[in-house]
Amino acid sequence: MENLNLRESHMKLKKGRRVLLFPLPFQGHINPMLQLANILYSRGFSITVIHTDFNSPNSTNYPDFTFHSIRIGLSEEQANQLAWPIGDVIALLTSTNITCAAPFHGALVKLISESSEEEPVACLITDADWHFTQAVADSLHLPRIVLRTTNVCSFLVYEPLPLFHQKGYFPIKDSKAEEEIPEFPPLKAKDLPQVKTQNQEDLFYLVDSMMSSIKASSGLIWNTCRDLEHSDLIKSSELFKVPNFSLGPFYKHFPCTSKSSLLAQDPTSISWLNNQAPRSVLYVSFGSVATITEAELLEIACVMNQLVPITRVVGRRGLANSQQPFLWVVRPNSVENSEWIEVLPDGFHQAVAGKGHIVRWAPQEEVLAHPSTGGFWTHCGLNSTLESMSQGVHMICAPSFGDQLVNARYISDVWRIGIHLEWKMERGEIEKVVKALMVEEEGRKIRERAGALKEKMELCLKPGGSSYEDGQSLVDHILSL
Ligand code: UDP
Repeated sequence: MENLNLRESHMKLKKGRRVLLFPLPFQGHINPMLQLANILYSRGFSITVIHTDFNSPNSTNYPDFTFHSIRIGLSEEQANQLAWPIGDVIALLTSTNITCAAPFHGALVKLISESSEEEPVACLITDADWHFTQAVADSLHLPRIVLRTTNVCSFLVYEPLPLFHQKGYFPIKDSKAEEEIPEFPPLKAKDLPQVKTQNQEDLFYLVDSMMSSIKASSGLIWNTCRDLEHSDLIKSSELFKVPNFSLGPFYKHFPCTSKSSLLAQDPTSISWLNNQAPRSVLYVSFGSVATITEAELLEIACVMNQLVPITRVVGRRGLANSQQPFLWVVRPNSVENSEWIEVLPDGFHQAVAGKGHIVRWAPQEEVLAHPSTGGFWTHCGLNSTLESMSQGVHMICAPSFGDQLVNARYISDVWRIGIHLEWKMERGEIEKVVKALMVEEEGRKIRERAGALKEKMELCLKPGGSSYEDGQSLVDHILSL
C-alpha cells in the first residue's frame, strides 16, 4: 500500500532526474537516508542508493530504487573494529573515509556514465560523516548536498571545538562537568557531544573535515523542523552559508522504518503490547550502538522486577492500573562482556512473567505508536527521539555518547517532554524517575506537553507547514543545480 502511494505520487510528479544517495552504514544513519529517499522519490526523483558491503540495506524492500554496493575496503584489523559493540567509532570513520574513496569514485563514474539522457544525475546526497565525498563529487562536477542526521545544536557545538578542548571540555574533565556553556544554553560541559576515541586528534580532524566539506557543498539537510530548533537552524545557515533545509521528522512523511532495519524486528513485541492496558507500558531501548555494563543491566532488571510495588502504591491512589508492565529491548552484544541477558538471575524471568517482555530488537516505530505504550526510556538517539515525539510519548533520558547527550538535555530542559536520569543508573534513582514519569503528577504534565508538541510537529508536515515548505524548496533547489 505504501509502495503504491509512493509510486503514484512519483509518477504524477516525475522529474526525469536521478538523485544518488550514500548513507553511513549504521542503523541511525541508514534509516533517515532511506526516509529521505522516499520523500524525494514521492516528489518525482528517481533514486539510486550507493551503500557499503558492510551493513547493506535490504534492497528487496525498495523495489522502486536502484542499489549499488561498494567495498568498504578495510584491513582485517580495521574490519575487527566493526565487530559489535564498535570499539572506536571515530577511528572507524577515519579509516573508512580513506578506504571508501577509490571504490566510491569508481561507482560515481559508472553511475554517471550509465545514466540515460532522459534521466541525468541531478546531485549526490551523502551523510555528513562521509566528508571525503565532497572532493570526489567536485572532481566529477557533480553537486553534493549533505544530510546531517543529528540535531542541529549538537553539531554547532563542534565549531568551537579547539576552544572547548583548551577549556578541558573535550574530553571532559570531571571537575568541569557542571560548567555552563553560555553560547549554547542550557547545555553544561557534561552535555557536550563526547565520543570516546583513542586518538583525540582523529575527532578534531573528522569534525574539521565535515565542517569544511559542508561549507563547500551545495546544501545541508536536517532531520528536524523549525518548531523544534528554530534559532539553531538560523545559526547553521549563518555558519555554513549554504542553503539549509529542515524537513523532519522524515519518517512521518512515509512511516516504515522496519524496511531499513538491519536486525530482524521481533513481532511478539506487538502481540504482547496488544494484551496490555492503554498507556501502561514503559518501553526501554538504547538504540543500535550504545552499550551498558552488566552492573547497569542488573540495576535496570531490579527496578523492572519492582515495578509492581511502585504501581501498587499508585493503585491505592487510583491513578494507575494494578500493574505497570515493560517492554525491554536488549540488543545482542549490547551488554558489555555478555552475548545477551545471561547475566540476569535465574528467578528474574519467573518474577516478571506477564509483567514484562524482553526482545532482541523491536519494530520501534510501531511500538511507539501502540496505544499501550505509555513512556519511553531511551538513549536519545535522534531517530528514537523524533519517533517518540511524533507519537506524543514522553521520555526518560539515558544518553550514552555524541549527540545523544545534547538531545537528552533538549528533551528534558528545552522541550520539557522527558526526565533526565543524569547518568544515575542505580536502582533507587531509576525507580524514582520511572515513578515520576509513569504515575505522578510531574509525568502527567510532561505527557501533556509531549502531546502538544506532537500536534505542532504534525502541522509542520502539512501544506503551509515549515517542513512541507522546506521539502518543496529542496526539490526546487535540486532542479536548479
Ligand atoms: N530501532 C528499531 N528497533 C529497536 C531499537 C531501535 O527498529 O529495537 C530503530 C529506531 O526506530 C531508530 C533506529 O533504530 O530508527 C535507532 O536510531 P537512533 O538515532 O535512535 O539511535 P542510534 O541507534 O543511531 O544510536
